Amino acid sequence: MKTVLITGAAGFLGSHLCDKFIDKGYKVIGIDNLITGDLKNISHLFPHENFEFYNHDVSKFVHVSGKLDYILHFASPASPIDYLKIPIQTLKVGSLGTHNLLGLAKVKNARILVASTSEVYGDPTVHPQTEEYWGNVNPVGPRGVYDEAKRFQEAMTMAYHTYHGLETRIVRIFNTYGPRMRLNDGRVLPAFIGQALRGEDLTVFGKGNQTRSFCYVDDLVEGIYRLLMSDYTMPMNIGNPDEITISEFAEEIIKLTGTTQKVINKPLPTDDPMQRQPNIDKARKIIDWEPKVSRAEGLKITYDYFKSLPPEELYKKEHKDFKAFEK
Ligand code: UDP
Repeated sequence: MKTVLITGAAGFLGSHLCDKFIDKGYKVIGIDNLITGDLKNISHLFPHENFEFYNHDVSKFVHVSGKLDYILHFASPASPIDYLKIPIQTLKVGSLGTHNLLGLAKVKNARILVASTSEVYGDPTVHPQTEEYWGNVNPVGPRGVYDEAKRFQEAMTMAYHTYHGLETRIVRIFNTYGPRMRLNDGRVLPAFIGQALRGEDLTVFGKGNQTRSFCYVDDLVEGIYRLLMSDYTMPMNIGNPDEITISEFAEEIIKLTGTTQKVINKPLPTDDPMQRQPNIDKARKIIDWEPKVSRAEGLKITYDYFKSLPPEELYKKEHKDFKAFEK
């Protein structure tokens, strides 16, 4: 039986990856310090004999006994609101955390895949974004803590690959959505659906002419699995190229939820990228992957998930006492 270590296991993407590898018959070891993750996302796996979980911060030394075949590093705050609140931990998990896991991969002779992001392209001047584009990032802006940690992560991962011959994979993840997103993480999709469910107006930042391209989580997870199993060691975009403005997206959510509320405009956050769409030619060619789930299908599943949550979740302002994690 192959063993995979997944960091950020209790998070949105990490928990779906745990499910995927358990389904495929792997032994899964999950790690999470639960700053932004939630045990509810993986509690269904606790009775499973092939699943283990450790509450640990991977920015500190990581010890795992026994063999490891694969490591997936998905621990990181990943919404602009989160990394504004916990900037230092965001920097540490992308840098020190990545270093610890690369070191672990080296001693275990394991293959490691690190979760990078479309944020490495910053506010892109090339559109759609190809992997060859180097990006337009403000290192000292509010997003810098995430963007630069991820850029450092890619550099460190490449260095372990070229210098130590480590088996590495780098996925650049574009906006992804689906069940288990946090309703209050500030991201546009849970924000709009939460507002519709609470009977509030939908807050569009800026003029709403900025674009994003949303990928359903099952598609993303399949792409990550294929990249891990491939021989490809350069960064690869995984995302859905179906691009939409945020205003149009708000209209779709209004239609989907049937809310009678309207759209209101709020100031555009600093350094908010104006456009984002992945070029996925590499994924198509190298791992024979493209997204299968349309936004209409994916949004319906996600809306049903949010509707099924206990009503008090809708009004929870703060997911966690972030201060308790300040170190
Ligand atoms: N956004 C918005 N209203 C909200 C939350 C976000 O208009 O209540 C916008 C945000 O300014 C950005 C886009 O939606 O242009 C996507 O934001 P998100 O935080 O989901 O992720 P990002 O792609 O910016 O990292």
